[in-house]
Amino acid sequence: VATELQPTDRTRLRRLPARGTYDRAMAYAILDEALYCNLAFAVDGQPRVLPTIHARVGDDLYFHGATGNAMLRAMAPGAEVCVSVTLVDGLVLSRSWFHHSMNYRSVVVFGRAARVEDPGEKTAALRALVDRIVHGRTAESRPPTDAELRATLVVRVPLAEGSAKVRTGGPVEDPADIGLDHWGGVLPLTLVPGEPVPDEHVAAGTPIPATVASWRRIGG
Ligand SMILES: Cc1cc2nc3c(=O)[nH]c(=O)nc-3n(C[C@H](O)[C@H](O)[C@H](O)COP(=O)(O)OP(=O)(O)OC[C@H]3O[C@@H](n4cnc5c(N)ncnc54)[C@H](O)[C@@H]3O)c2cc1C
Repeated sequence: VATELQPTDRTRLRRLPARGTYDRAMAYAILDEALYCNLAFAVDGQPRVLPTIHARVGDDLYFHGATGNAMLRAMAPGAEVCVSVTLVDGLVLSRSWFHHSMNYRSVVVFGRAARVEDPGEKTAALRALVDRIVHGRTAESRPPTDAELRATLVVRVPLAEGSAKVRTGGPVEDPADIGLDHWGGVLPLTLVPGEPVPDEHVAAGTPIPATVASWRRIGG
């Protein structure tokens, strides 16, 4: 597989192309760090975007849900979809309204969806989807029954056509604004987990699993 996603007419960044990259490693790191994606698809010619969990296995993205899920049912017969993820790394505060912005890492992927039929591939995708919530969680929870597997639809989108875009650094100020008496700079943002909350079925005194206690956003 090429180390670069091959730019196409619809993935060629026109606006601030210097912020764009087609490097697979960069795009994959962003996809893996993002906890969920926004998945765009058409229903009867109408655009629809829904947030959903994604997981990457090699050069494919996987999505899952109930067999009755309208989004997955629309995708499964081979629909064209567009997936995007965004990590907001900071708020960029300029001395002018015009140059306010955000620091981010984002990925846009275009592709044709396909329903996953192979049981091995389906299980691997479900494993990736659970382990991306908490790394190692599949070993600490019950695998699906045959009935649960039958009730779950898994869809694959190949990672072949896509782009990443990254903004870093402070505000881009107009020279005339530098002397204004307004604060300028960046407020960095990170995702920080809170204290784990055991549910009522956990016996008192049970330690929090290390996988949970040490959770960090992958790459974050
Ligand atoms: C958190 C966040 C906030 C943003 N806020 C603004 C805003 O307020 N105003 C604004 O104009 N833009 C904003 N952007 C940038 C925005 O996503 C577009 O890149 C930009 O608007 C250019 O749009 P365009 O249609 O001219 O893109 P074009 O450069 O014409 O897009 C062509 C192709 O480039 C790729 N591409 C474009 N943008 C991205 C991206 N962000 N990530 C990955 N691939 C991409 C896609 O494949 C797209 O089909 C923001 C981005 C992020 C992540």
